[in-house]
Amino acid sequence: MPETLFISDLHLDPQRPEVIDLLVRFLDGRAAAADALYILGDLFEYWVGDDDVRADLLPAVEALRRLSDAGVPVWFMAGNRDFLVGEGFAARTGCRLLEDPTRTELYGVPTLLMHGDSLCIDDIEYQALRKQLRDPAWQTGFLSLPVEQRRAQAETLRRQSREATRDKAAEIMDVNAAEVDAVFREYGVRRIIHGHTHRPAVHALSVDGEPAERIVLGDWYTQGSVLSVTPAGYGLEELRTD
Ligand code: MN
Repeated sequence: MPETLFISDLHLDPQRPEVIDLLVRFLDGRAAAADALYILGDLFEYWVGDDDVRADLLPAVEALRRLSDAGVPVWFMAGNRDFLVGEGFAARTGCRLLEDPTRTELYGVPTLLMHGDSLCIDDIEYQALRKQLRDPAWQTGFLSLPVEQRRAQAETLRRQSREATRDKAAEIMDVNAAEVDAVFREYGVRRIIHGHTHRPAVHALSVDGEPAERIVLGDWYTQGSVLSVTPAGYGLEELRTD
């Protein structure tokens, strides 16, 4: 049966080599037989520019290249950690870059693909930071810094994010229900697929009296998480690291 695969929030980090191995096995195995692979953000724990491909991450980058060379379209949408992935990365891996959000048809079902952070509007502090980091002028300035300095800033941001998250109520960091409704209506879809919250689930909803569903991908901290969509349906699956 044809299938399209979705992953997000791998947060690839040289400190978790077993997750890099798991991804490489997934890309060389299951994904090689798929119609397409979509990466919906936060593939990397952080990314300070396409001129800084850390050696420990090369196996993942090369496996993406093998997959696209094998003829499987690989779509990449940036998350809030790897928003500086750009054309250099696309050229190197063969991935095609996707805007957030992107509306597409999956085996006839109109579907909206997102990273998911834009739905978390109750976290006002985070949304302000997001606006700054996505500002083209800020990005140009940042990319003009030496790589070492960019890495140091990314580490600082990562630490601050960890501290900020610890003190925030869980519901503040989840999606806002009214925003989800508004996005369903704005894009005229009945299915949204996103990551970011690390709360894998299928939420059955009703939008204007019609059934709708929001599918949330899981993270890859201690296992892998994959969504498989086929013409017959879909399933959220876990991949084990051993
Ligand atoms: Mn994220």
